[in-house]
Amino acid sequence: MARKLIAGNWKMNGSLSFASELVGGLLSRLEQNSTAADFAVCPPAALLGQVTGLAKGTALAVVGQDCHANISGAHTGDTSAELLKDLGCQYVLTGHSERRTDHGEGNADVQAKSSAAIKAGLIPIICIGETEGQRVSGDTLKVVEQQVRESLPVEATSTNVVLAYEPVWAIGTGKTATPDDVAEVHNFIRGLLDRHFDEATDGKLKILYGGSVKPSNAAELLGVSNVDGALVGGASLKVEDFWAIGVR
Ligand code: PEP
Repeated sequence: MARKLIAGNWKMNGSLSFASELVGGLLSRLEQNSTAADFAVCPPAALLGQVTGLAKGTALAVVGQDCHANISGAHTGDTSAELLKDLGCQYVLTGHSERRTDHGEGNADVQAKSSAAIKAGLIPIICIGETEGQRVSGDTLKVVEQQVRESLPVEATSTNVVLAYEPVWAIGTGKTATPDDVAEVHNFIRGLLDRHFDEATDGKLKILYGGSVKPSNAAELLGVSNVDGALVGGASLKVEDFWAIGVR
């Protein structure tokens, strides 16, 4: 069975001491246990150098929270995919709903960033998901289909991208989609991907679920068909909780 990917999105949280404590706690657990899941952390950009240094040569992967679509240039405050790769990141989040909302990023931006990530040798974790209003009006599958189609770059293959389905109304709210809701969307995305790549992507292209995942609901959510891992926000800030999500 393919290994699940459990990625912890720290968002704009953390400090030098927080990072060394949390990563230290994860690394000692990874050294002492064999796990059926792969773990990754997504620290803020300013902590990436420290975290990639700590994680170098270990089983812990490091994820940038965003990248620019260009290789370099006059883009104050942004980080290129090349620099993330150079620092030692393996993945980068693209299209997180907080980027879409706070920075007005649309599918075309997400596609361009994901393309830059792949060209730099990173795996983009492309985030998609409907708002509460879109779910209530019955548009979830339509929205998700459009996001998948418009966010996947031409360079994408079934092995160089990851998708994260994160219903926006479930992010940081404590509300979680029911296993039936998650199954419906993940199975739908799997069908879309199989058609897009003209092959059975099962097990190769990971589809993560995100939205208030915590130790108490992780087993149920990770047990849903076509859920290949989790993107975890709040619960990834406590090493015991984050570890408990991936190791059951
Ligand atoms: C996220 O940041 O992608 C996320 C899913 O956050 P939370 O787990 O806090 O809902």
